[in-house]
Amino acid sequence: MIKQYPVDYIAITQGYSDDHKSIDLGWKDNPNVPILSCGSGYVENIYYLNDGGNVLKIKYDDKTSTAFMHLKSDSIIVKVGDRVIRGQNVATMGDTGDATGVHLHLVMYDESGNRINPTKYLYAFPNQTINPEDESIVMRYNTYVEYTVQSGDTLWSIARKYNTTWQQIYENNKEVIGDNPNLIYPGQVLKIPNNVITYTVQPGDTLWSIAKEYNTTWQQIYENNKEVIGDNPNLIYPGQILIIS
Ligand SMILES: [Zn+2]
Repeated sequence: MIKQYPVDYIAITQGYSDDHKSIDLGWKDNPNVPILSCGSGYVENIYYLNDGGNVLKIKYDDKTSTAFMHLKSDSIIVKVGDRVIRGQNVATMGDTGDATGVHLHLVMYDESGNRINPTKYLYAFPNQTINPEDESIVMRYNTYVEYTVQSGDTLWSIARKYNTTWQQIYENNKEVIGDNPNLIYPGQVLKIPNNVITYTVQPGDTLWSIAKEYNTTWQQIYENNKEVIGDNPNLIYPGQILIIS
């Protein structure tokens, strides 16, 4: 699953280290920054910590989770158990708990609950801006693909084709579509966030090592790429392009 950074302006004010197994995200012009779900999943928990302040925890469909901390008081607009999608506004940045200023303290966990470095898993989407100083920290980028509307298409049918939601397509194409997401016309060119992760095999790679890197299983990668790999999952070659998810 491709997950995005939870803010539209990515400013990493403190990176991931042994002393700070999380990242801090800051703000630029206005501290009331909408906090967005990184992916599709469920609201797992909402609670208060003396140090973390208001905390919202989301469990994603790939079993990873994130905790958003120091959230502004009364800003959480989802409930425990709610379904959320990538990019959905769930709360507002704040400074509750033991925070020196308004920022988002973002903790990310793997499926076993171990803390992992968010910059290795989150993608910067094309509609997100990266603070120039942080371009070296952000590791993964997503891109748009262009789609020309055909007669009979709806945002919903296009979303299905591209493994995304009609809301995400609408969000990224409001200027083209206008106020009514039910009205699209043949010939309109829409920008679809690319939800497919590909990987080019390097010397020494195995499906297992690639799967570990992307937090998936070698079986899943093999399943996605049988036509490229052939009958033997132990034989992959440098230069092959594999679809990860
Ligand atoms: Zn922090």
